[in-house]
Amino acid sequence: MRSNFPRWAIIGSVILMLIFAGLFMALKNISQPLPAPVMEKKAYPVENIIGQSVNGRNITAYGYGVGEKKLVFVGGIHGGYEWNSVLLAYNFMDYLQANPDIIPKNLSVIVIPSLNPDGVYKVIGKEGRFTVAEVPINSDLLKSGRFNADKVDLNRNFDCRFQATSTWQGNIVSAGSKAFSEPEALAFKNFVLKNNLSAVVFWHSQSNGVYASQCNNGILPGTTAITNAYSKASGYPAQVSFDAYAITGAADDWLSSINIPAVSVELKTHESIEWDKNLAGIKALFEYFGNK
Ligand SMILES: [Zn+2]
Repeated sequence: MRSNFPRWAIIGSVILMLIFAGLFMALKNISQPLPAPVMEKKAYPVENIIGQSVNGRNITAYGYGVGEKKLVFVGGIHGGYEWNSVLLAYNFMDYLQANPDIIPKNLSVIVIPSLNPDGVYKVIGKEGRFTVAEVPINSDLLKSGRFNADKVDLNRNFDCRFQATSTWQGNIVSAGSKAFSEPEALAFKNFVLKNNLSAVVFWHSQSNGVYASQCNNGILPGTTAITNAYSKASGYPAQVSFDAYAITGAADDWLSSINIPAVSVELKTHESIEWDKNLAGIKALFEYFGNK
């Protein structure tokens, strides 16, 4: 079929089309790598499943901030027995969500709200978040929720002075067949070894104090510093050793053995998150680690 257009017009049209197509592709390529608009809501938190419990429940770490120094807060290693430590961690997450600018630029904050989810489930009867109203008033049930589904006290299952049986108050408790025999403790160990952590805070109840960690090598200077900072701001007394009864295989003491400063903050009660005191302690740590 013959075209009515002269050849030069056809060639010109084709060239113009190619130029427009080229421009379109170029603009498309330029627009693709542009970063998201600054006004866009921050993608908080970054969720990272670090492992599963004995009964297959996820253990999740929630990350806030982008700084190089990583500060970790852990709730619920003693499960439903210390349910207020779990609610404190969730409350802290809500606070960070609402106040992301509170985190110094050089810091990242990672919250693991529930390190023993089976122990929480045993008491509360549901997974994830819960309210105070959902906590039963049955002291035997609450005590049984301290342990994981293997009936092991997870804060006796770490590799520092480990013994297969240990103590809790006047009781003999199982610490597991060997250090890190329990999936929850192993998940936390792997998380720690994968990340270069600046410090770790465990929330417990109800011994009312900030307890420094150590593992046969004295207290790390960094541990002394954060013990004192959290204590002074929160009002929980600083304790350089837990001497109520002998503790073996504690998570914070294992961290000390690998040179990571760690403390256990014991709330004063089993029933309240004592938010104002703990927020003051958290802010003191932000100040201590911030911009250094
Ligand atoms: Zn505890």
